[in-house]
Amino acid sequence: MKVVLKDLVKDFKSADTVAVNRINLEIDQGELAVLLGPSGCGKTTTLRMIAGLEQPDSGRIYIAERDITDLAPKDRRVAMVFQNFSMYPTMNVYDNIAFPLHAIKMDRKEIDRTVREVARLVNIDQLLERGLRQVSGGEAQRVALARAMVRRPEVFLMDEPLSNLDAKLRVQLRTEIKRLHQDTGATFIFVTHDQEEAMTLGDKIIVMNRGDIQQVGTPHEVFFTPRNAFVANFVGTPSMNMLPGSLRIEESGRIFVGLPDFELELPRRFAAGLRGMSSHHVIWGIRPEAIRLVSAPGGNCVPGLVELVEALGSRDLMFVRVHGQLFGVIVDALDSVPAGEACLLHFDGAHMHLFDAESELSLLLDEKTKGA
Ligand code: ATP
Repeated sequence: MKVVLKDLVKDFKSADTVAVNRINLEIDQGELAVLLGPSGCGKTTTLRMIAGLEQPDSGRIYIAERDITDLAPKDRRVAMVFQNFSMYPTMNVYDNIAFPLHAIKMDRKEIDRTVREVARLVNIDQLLERGLRQVSGGEAQRVALARAMVRRPEVFLMDEPLSNLDAKLRVQLRTEIKRLHQDTGATFIFVTHDQEEAMTLGDKIIVMNRGDIQQVGTPHEVFFTPRNAFVANFVGTPSMNMLPGSLRIEESGRIFVGLPDFELELPRRFAAGLRGMSSHHVIWGIRPEAIRLVSAPGGNCVPGLVELVEALGSRDLMFVRVHGQLFGVIVDALDSVPAGEACLLHFDGAHMHLFDAESELSLLLDEKTKGA
């Protein structure tokens, strides 16, 4: 079912910022949307308002075009799975899953059929008779998922459901949540502060900061065409290299960005969007993956000194000092240059980002989306 948030506001008064600051959002039927942002940006509050656990100060919430803002949580056809899921430790797995169905007085045979079917979907059908203390963390999380599923909600709300699990299990359950999403065809809204989790799970990512939506887009869009400097910096690990700079545009149409210690050239195709902006103050950025090691000097090539190398597996993250600035550079581990040695870096203009120094909005977004 489609979920629509219209001018939604929640102000706890006690905090110095508004928790949710008049947000507008549309999540389509069957979509897996991820709310992503740093701690305190308003993700959980947004989710709790959709679930009916928190009443908005103003604004409306629609599910399948029906205004549900004033409905009780149980009447909204949504199910929520939390980070710290609460279950009944004295009951076995089966009874924990069946609990919401007893509460609505479902027929016993129907309960049994539903519990077994849902347990099969999340791969815990062999654990139904076990006590809750006899299952692992990952299995308990699946029990929580199963319990959320038994009432066949149209909208699943998940608040960091994987954050208490170890790294390997997280990855495994992530895949299972994706499969569950495909199998049920329901709308999922998933909250996380982990951008890698958001990128691997989401059809649509909603990046939030300080109660505001910063950008809504596919994982590719928020990574390759960030709308502003916050999104550019928050999405991607390791983070984008960013520096203050100023533009220099020649009459010939060549565009340069002056960084604290050197100058780089941008492709001429960006000229239209930057017309009249010579001397404009910007925030310049380039992702560590977009800087290359080269052997021969040329345009946009700058010498540097490798200060530190971190192994990432098949690739290395090198920290390279270029004049006064330190850059993160990701290279194939086989090409890596050891710490203490000199190297030559090429900054590809096509992969550079420019943001207005004041508004922090992208100055290249139109050109980049056209080129994408
Ligand atoms: P986290 O990832 O840490 O859970 P979040 O993005 O989910 O963060 P929220 O929990 O929605 O953020 O909180 C948004 C803001 O509202 C924060 O400043 C928080 O301190 C404040 N807040 C949340 N719940 C309450 C409450 N019940 N009373 C007062 N302030 C609250």
